[in-house]
Amino acid sequence: MSTALLGENPIHCLRCNLEVPPERLKLSVIEVDAIAHWYGMYGAIDWLELDSGPYENWARSQLLDPGSPPNVEGLEVTKRLNAIRRCYFWFFQPVADDDYVSPTTCPICGDALVLFEEGLFPQLLCERDSLVLEGGYQADDDDDLEEPGMSSTS
Ligand SMILES: [Zn+2]
Repeated sequence: MSTALLGENPIHCLRCNLEVPPERLKLSVIEVDAIAHWYGMYGAIDWLELDSGPYENWARSQLLDPGSPPNVEGLEVTKRLNAIRRCYFWFFQPVADDDYVSPTTCPICGDALVLFEEGLFPQLLCERDSLVLEGGYQADDDDDLEEPGMSSTS
């Protein structure tokens, strides 16, 4: 199996947020192809959202809709990878927006999201749907990280 098929690697570690080499997961060619196909489509739409051009609003609506083709396919690939290793699907959030407020409930099932604070930035999880969102931010947070006095978990 060649990781070159993947190009830029979309698999990241939930705990450290760094890339996970696909060969470490011992993925089959079928799985690598499934990831590459999803990532090609998702990446194109993600690029249109980042480009802030005439397709930005459309691209954003696609990324925020759990029923859109790039998300449905991504969730299917996630389900497949979960047979190998616990895996969550990264669900787009417009965190760069000035007025961004994290959701509190899962965009698919509506259950309360659970804060996961081990990563480089706060993440929100839905275990039922294997979904991960960047988030945990409040409306009045000036910086994107938690308050200085609150990181005393050690
Ligand atoms: Zn859910």
